[in-house]
Amino acid sequence: MNPLFAPAPTDHNILSLGAGVQSSCLALMCSKGEVTPMPKFAVFADTQDEPRSVYEWLSELRALCVFPIYTVTAGSLSHHALKMRTTSDGRKYSRTNIPFFTKSAKGKVGKIVFRSCTADFKIRPILKEVKRRCDVKRGQKHVSVTQYIGISWDEWHRCKPSREAWAQSRWPLIELKMTRQHCLDWMKANGFEKPPRSSCVYCPFHSDAEWQRLKTQEPEAFAAAVKFEKRIQKAKKNSDNFDSTPFLHRSCVPIDQVDFRSDFEKGQMDIFGQGHAYCEEGMCGV
Ligand code: SF4
Repeated sequence: MNPLFAPAPTDHNILSLGAGVQSSCLALMCSKGEVTPMPKFAVFADTQDEPRSVYEWLSELRALCVFPIYTVTAGSLSHHALKMRTTSDGRKYSRTNIPFFTKSAKGKVGKIVFRSCTADFKIRPILKEVKRRCDVKRGQKHVSVTQYIGISWDEWHRCKPSREAWAQSRWPLIELKMTRQHCLDWMKANGFEKPPRSSCVYCPFHSDAEWQRLKTQEPEAFAAAVKFEKRIQKAKKNSDNFDSTPFLHRSCVPIDQVDFRSDFEKGQMDIFGQGHAYCEEGMCGV
């Protein structure tokens, strides 16, 4: 049996909610009984740095779904990233956990490959809450939880089996061969508005189209990204474990000086995985 389809039934079904297009569509389909069994609850992990549109949509979604949506958080990701720590021998460092673009003193452009923000601020808080609410025992080896994940057919490459012995993943949109566009069509046909992209305001995975949208439609979120970039550059400059300058945009130009329209007009597509990097974990809406 292809593990992408029809996993064995378990005691608990829960939904990992990213609150973007796909997972919101999945939540509403579950709520309407179009995906069964209905999850007992959904969990959203809040990095505390999402744009206002996401929080507004989340409260709307909460009112629309017949099962509860719980919000969990590991704290503010931006505060965590900016926090300066000191080693026992007095060297200053800050943990780099966001996938920044980097530019060295010699002008060499690079990228932080091993980020931990998704694991620490999205995946772990959700798993912790699910374990608690589904009474998963310490060291449990049998699968008692099925985690519904809103990955669509056009993003099947994001599907990964659960790393937890007590959980298995299920991808209902893949089972239904629903693409992101199908999700948007389903939302429209059922009278729901288009959800915003769910991601941190400063996420370096943003496409130019999303940066442009933030700049024009959510200026306070864009201003927060500009401020964060300046602060993280200062923090990294003062640390002993980082010898490049971090940037939010792949051009390594300060984010408030980038002309996003030029690339967008050249044909950069606002589709996951095309024209820009993306969150391969499938947990962030970028
Ligand atoms: S949205 Fe971006 S910055 Fe935020 S947790 Fe996901 S990958 Fe990290």
